[in-house]
Amino acid sequence: MNANEPDDLIACHECDALFHKRVLPQRTSAKCPRCGSLLYRSISSNLDKICAMTLAALVTFVIAQGFPIVELDANGLTSQTTLIGAIVALWNEQMEIMAVLVFCSTILFPLCELLALLYVLIPLRSGHVPPGFNALLRGIQFVRPWGMIEVFMLGVLVTLVKMVSIARVIPEAALFAFGALTLMFAVVVSFDPRALWDIASGLGPRGETKQANGSERTTSEARQKS
Ligand SMILES: [Zn+2]
Repeated sequence: MNANEPDDLIACHECDALFHKRVLPQRTSAKCPRCGSLLYRSISSNLDKICAMTLAALVTFVIAQGFPIVELDANGLTSQTTLIGAIVALWNEQMEIMAVLVFCSTILFPLCELLALLYVLIPLRSGHVPPGFNALLRGIQFVRPWGMIEVFMLGVLVTLVKMVSIARVIPEAALFAFGALTLMFAVVVSFDPRALWDIASGLGPRGETKQANGSERTTSEARQKS
């Protein structure tokens, strides 16, 4: 290993083995020869695609959350409510833990990931690195297991199943939006956020972001220093 060129080194996040990075052909990925986990994918060609998909997912997310998804029946009075309303109803039915879990998996974490990705992707596309880039990207990787498509679907399903006793599911805009959102998340989540480190490092000096995190030396940051 050449210690003078930390930029071309990458550590396997499973077994910590160090490797030299090479520029990959499009649509290929590098795997760790020791444990077989994914090291990195070829970058930049899919930046536009993932940016558009994230934006579309955000719009669909707003539609899915904004339209009623269940019809509540209380004492002969029927009222339609959104997923948030359904979560509040779960809470009121003494299913607080369920309500919190569903809220996190279907609203909080997906929304955080979408907004954070857009905040990072849009400036990167126009050629500069937004402030707080390092912290945000670490945040994305932290919430990712919770933003997984299975967890998201499970959250929606659990709400609907739990609500069946007190509510009726409305097969309209919101339900279809959730279906579409599930597919969109599959695409967004397939994008490896670590590819963004490489794009950022290719953009040259990074100003305040770099200084703010200068004291920490994780592998990713070590790779970014240019
Ligand atoms: Zn490995």
